[in-house]
Formats: sequence, C-alpha cells, structure tokens
Amino acid sequence: MTVPAECRAEPGQFAPVVDRAKCEGKADCVRVCPFHVFEVGRIADSEFAQLGMFGKMKSLAHGRRTAYTPQASACQACGKCVEACPEKAIKLQRVQR
Ligand code: SF4
Repeated sequence: MTVPAECRAEPGQFAPVVDRAKCEGKADCVRVCPFHVFEVGRIADSEFAQLGMFGKMKSLAHGRRTAYTPQASACQACGKCVEACPEKAIKLQRVQR
C-alpha cells in the first residue's frame, strides 16, 4: 500500500476518539482512512445507555450505527478522518504510555 506523504506520525503515537453522542455512523472515516482504522457497527448497549436523551434519539434515528476503531494502533495521525466526518465527531488524541 502507498502511504500518503501527509501521514506523518509513527503508528501508536495518536489515536482517533469518536464522540458517541455526535457520530451517526455515516462511515466517511472508514472510506478515507488509509490504514483501515475504522469499522461501523451497532453501538454497544452500555455506551447507548450513557447517551443523553438527544443522543439516544439521534442514535436510534441512524439505526444505532457508530464508528469503532479496532485498528487504532495503526493510526498515523494524517487527520483525514477528522476532516471527513460530517458530524465533527472525531478527535485525535496522543496515546498515553
Ligand atoms: S488520522 Fe484518521 S484517517 Fe488518518 S490514519 Fe489516523 S485514523 Fe486513519
């Protein structure tokens, strides 16, 4: 796979964090991430229970779909997912060691 020049951090230094109250599971992050960090699935019951009333209604309206990051350790902090998310639901965070 060709790695885009703007992907600059070593894997494991940063990871995307998804705001469950904002994510609508539209999967733009899945499409743009060069390192296959994301997958979209059904929000876990425990996370759904933590949403506020508005967040629950929004989640239900979108079939409880949300983005997870099973390959977060592959992130190279290019920022494509942050730019692509229409809900501004993704932030990059430095991984604590
Ligand atoms: S910043 Fe987002 S798009 Fe870029 S490598 Fe990390 S998870 Fe993938």
